[in-house]
Amino acid sequence: MDEPRLFLLGTQGPDPFFYAYKEPHVYQWGFAIHSKKCGEFMYALLKDEEIPFSYKAGFVCHQILDGIAHRFIGYLENDARHKKREMTIDKAIVRKFLNRSFSKVKSWKVFENMHLTPLSRRMMLIIAKVYETRDIEERYFEHSVQMMCNVLKKLYNNFYFKHFLAYIVNILTLGIKNYLPLFPYILPHDILNEKKREWMDTIAGKKRNESFLEILERTIVEAIHALKTLREGKIPDIVDMNFQNGHKTTRAKVETCSEGV
Ligand SMILES: [Zn+2]
Repeated sequence: MDEPRLFLLGTQGPDPFFYAYKEPHVYQWGFAIHSKKCGEFMYALLKDEEIPFSYKAGFVCHQILDGIAHRFIGYLENDARHKKREMTIDKAIVRKFLNRSFSKVKSWKVFENMHLTPLSRRMMLIIAKVYETRDIEERYFEHSVQMMCNVLKKLYNNFYFKHFLAYIVNILTLGIKNYLPLFPYILPHDILNEKKREWMDTIAGKKRNESFLEILERTIVEAIHALKTLREGKIPDIVDMNFQNGHKTTRAKVETCSEGV
């Protein structure tokens, strides 16, 4: 019964570490996995026999989406007119495909009360091996997932009230503290770029006009292909990829994990 939840947890990739914001030594693993030794990490994760397939499959989907879509999100976030619009994309996607209001999506509920001790142990063991560090504890991943639930609940339970609070804070601080982009209320015009206007892909250094839906479609095609390969017991080539910029990486060989952290 936990398998769909494990898949969804996998789709969060290394992002749960970002929620351990009070502990920089835990938080930093979010950045490390996204940008350093990505192929080595993915290889060790996918080869690990104790980590459930559903979790691995979700993780691969996260990597592919990051590698393909970060540049569009990067463009939106760098563009002054669209500052911090990643949440707005989430809202637009929820509206378009689930026909639901963003305020009704209680995403943290999916991950509440999951028994993650064995997975946390394996994840941290892999990190220790790949990044050659001893500065970790087995509970870090599990703790990060708990923090993710806490933060999402704090932010998005009673969405409209929190939006209202952010609005008041914005007024009282004369716009200095602007949390409003975290609570997208009104969707900006054509945030998914369905009208296909030109945008700058700063990673590739060229202009493009793909809509976010086309990017999503490309991601799904790549993900289906990768998951088929994974099902056949093989490692998909695409996992040799930097999460952050989608660049292909060259992988050094890392032994599979067997010892304790
Ligand atoms: Zn990510």
